[in-house]
Amino acid sequence: MKAGLLQSLNKELKEYIDDLYQEATPLVFGDGDVDSPIVLIGEAPGKNEILQGRPFVGQAGKNLDEFINVLEIKKTDLYITNVVKMRPYKVNEQTGREANRTPTKKEVSLFTPYLRRELEIIKPLMVVTLGNTALKCITQDENTSIGNFHGNPSEVRFGGVVFSLFPLYHPASIIYKADLKDTYNADLHKLKDYIKILKIKKTSKEGL
Ligand code: URA
Repeated sequence: MKAGLLQSLNKELKEYIDDLYQEATPLVFGDGDVDSPIVLIGEAPGKNEILQGRPFVGQAGKNLDEFINVLEIKKTDLYITNVVKMRPYKVNEQTGREANRTPTKKEVSLFTPYLRRELEIIKPLMVVTLGNTALKCITQDENTSIGNFHGNPSEVRFGGVVFSLFPLYHPASIIYKADLKDTYNADLHKLKDYIKILKIKKTSKEGL
């Protein structure tokens, strides 16, 4: 049921983007357990994700795996997606090489209604945003910042769904900012405890 709904949503998005951009990169859709109570949201796919057609593979995937290990949950038990489903990149004029870049506000706005519908299908209990782009998109607050809200859960309505939002730094950010590592680990342990509480809540709801 959910898988079928996601498939038609993805088809619709692909047709929309194909009409809009002549040279859009292939799209990378959400992946994982569509019945997962936890959804992870990153920013946008990079080169490896476009090549493999899945979010968070290559180095980004390795960083994410490390954090999933801390949580002691299986990656296949989660649903993982991105705000923007195509690869935002710029070309270095000197080398001609393509490099990832942060998506523009326009790109985020273009994909936000689809993320909303994706979450309305999945109906997660908890959304973990990875980095600023996903946090700003989910809170619909351009002025918010991960520096102020990381590790602080809150209840959020996004379109027709309500869930617990748990903002985390993007796993890639600790590679560039080594001093974030302790903060990041503390947030992960907080998240691990929070997931335990969520599981208890879910089990008691199911028992009703
Ligand atoms: N790969 C993704 O799929 N998303 C990110 O945010 C970063 C790398």
